[in-house]
Amino acid sequence: MQKREELYRGKAKTVYLTDDENRLVLEFRNDTSAFDGQKVEQLARKGMVNNKFNNFIMTKLQEAGIPTQLESMLSDNESLVKKLAMIPVECVVRNVAAGSMCRRLGVQEGTELQPPTFEFFLKNDELHDPMVNEYHILSFGWADQAQIDKMKELTFKVNDVLKALFDTAGMILVDYKLEFGDFNGEITLGDEFTPDGCRLWDKETREKLDKDRFRQGLGGVVEAYEEVANRLGVDLD
Ligand code: ADP
Ligand code: UDP
Repeated sequence: MQKREELYRGKAKTVYLTDDENRLVLEFRNDTSAFDGQKVEQLARKGMVNNKFNNFIMTKLQEAGIPTQLESMLSDNESLVKKLAMIPVECVVRNVAAGSMCRRLGVQEGTELQPPTFEFFLKNDELHDPMVNEYHILSFGWADQAQIDKMKELTFKVNDVLKALFDTAGMILVDYKLEFGDFNGEITLGDEFTPDGCRLWDKETREKLDKDRFRQGLGGVVEAYEEVANRLGVDLD
């Protein structure tokens, strides 16, 4: 496999074409951003930690029968993935109220959500990723009904797998964001699952172990990501 020219530089990852038109290289950078790119910092080791973390989680999800982009890890901060036709929405499941849900609905952070909620957001930084519903997705042709149903089904299946995984390692999976795309007609999990895109709290102390440490200026961001990785048994060497 040959890495070719840069296709897209996002806020945290750079995407490269390869000599295989169906494969991409994802490079996880140290850049850490919040508030739609308004706060950006370089955090040493974060690209490496997130790349290895993402590979660990996607392997678990693949083993549980969820189709993922995963091909192989190429280096400390690069992975080879299937090139998906990305659907421009974010799928968010929440087990516990936090973040934008608290601001929007006036509920207290930490309120348990039974059953867990599901939300779609449009991927659009200029519009600050507005919440959308299934009718918007259908009317604007971002996905069809079968794709919407599959994204919801898989996002909840991810919840079953990962809630248990984090629970066993002493953590609460509060919420997370997934992105899907089409690969040969199959809805496939893309992008990443790392502490950049989910909320994780220590089960006993409720200490935040995710990107809220960066958003809220709590410090120890990468140290927290490494703590989560170590508890799960992710090999960071
Ligand atoms: P953003 O675009 O939000 O700034 P990133 O810095 O993470 O985010 O950039 C990665 C980009 O690559 C995202 O736009 C994401 O949708 C896209 N992407 C992630 N995985 C794949 C994939 N397997 N195939 C095609 N595109 C992907
Ligand atoms: N999230 C993300 N990317 C986004 C928006 C949200 O990864 O562009 C994740 C976020 O880390 C959290 C979940 O999705 O785990 C729900 O985020 P929320 O809607 O609460 O937004 P925020 O508080 O981050 O503005």
